[in-house]
Amino acid sequence: MANQTAVWLLSRPGTEILLDAGAHILHYEMAGAAALAGVQVRPVAGNPVMDAAALSAAIRPTSPHVPRASLVCLENTHNGAGGRVTSLAAMREICDIARANELPVHLDGARLWNAAAASHETLAALASIADTVMVSFSKGLGCPVGAALAGPRDLIAEGWSVRKRFGGGMRQSGILAAAALHALDAHLPRIAEDHASAKIYASIVDGVAGARVVAPDTNIIMLDLPASIDAFAVVAECRRRDVLLTPWSASRIRAVTHLDVSESAVRQAAATAAEVLEHMGGGGRVQSKRH
Ligand SMILES: *Cc1c(COP(=O)(O)O)cnc(C)c1O
Repeated sequence: MANQTAVWLLSRPGTEILLDAGAHILHYEMAGAAALAGVQVRPVAGNPVMDAAALSAAIRPTSPHVPRASLVCLENTHNGAGGRVTSLAAMREICDIARANELPVHLDGARLWNAAAASHETLAALASIADTVMVSFSKGLGCPVGAALAGPRDLIAEGWSVRKRFGGGMRQSGILAAAALHALDAHLPRIAEDHASAKIYASIVDGVAGARVVAPDTNIIMLDLPASIDAFAVVAECRRRDVLLTPWSASRIRAVTHLDVSESAVRQAAATAAEVLEHMGGGGRVQSKRH
């Protein structure tokens, strides 16, 4: 809802918004940008995530025959790319292209906490490049629920009525805000522990039965399986052994480390996944090769 509110505020109906081809706004928000804001979502292929060159190439020349763009959206860290961090410098380059084309920038920062910890930048510095910034309190920060949208005062004042129109007006939000404040005090300082755990997890499963890990920047581990192993079967067998994973596709599995899973539990979860992979692959560990 925070992302959709920003899209509604910053875009114009009948235009397109430019974002990475794997963006949350494109894949997991029920075509909300089309239905709510009346915009076309234009996926931009990244390397692995949309950079300034990719954005620049995607901006169409002004013409009566093609849609105009009205907004650029970034996602940092990038979930679909395996919790990938876009550096502050790379974000600045993207924003320079956007500004040169008079396009505002919305930052989907559901995991901005992780981006800040991994890049050793402040949250304020990362947020400062965008016109609006969404943050989620329920991902790595560990709240049961909650997100926020930040931006210029006048815009956010209008955002409150958009939120209510979208069904998100609440008189009971204080208890949720208290949880978010607690998480900012108690959980934000420990978020780098999840990144260290993710690296441990990756080192245990990478190469097992031909599976390849996308080297994790933060707390998301993407595991690519050889054609002979079905991701859904691995996930089901791990679940039977009380280890939860997300099947990302038939050949890719996502594991996420977070504050509810200690380092020793992460090692155990990785060992279980490795056992299952070895069993299903019918072979042992092949030589590890990072990509
Ligand atoms: C989860 C997520 C959201 C939505 O966050 P909520 O707190 O559920 O509203 C937006 N963007 C990304 C990249 C996410 O992973």
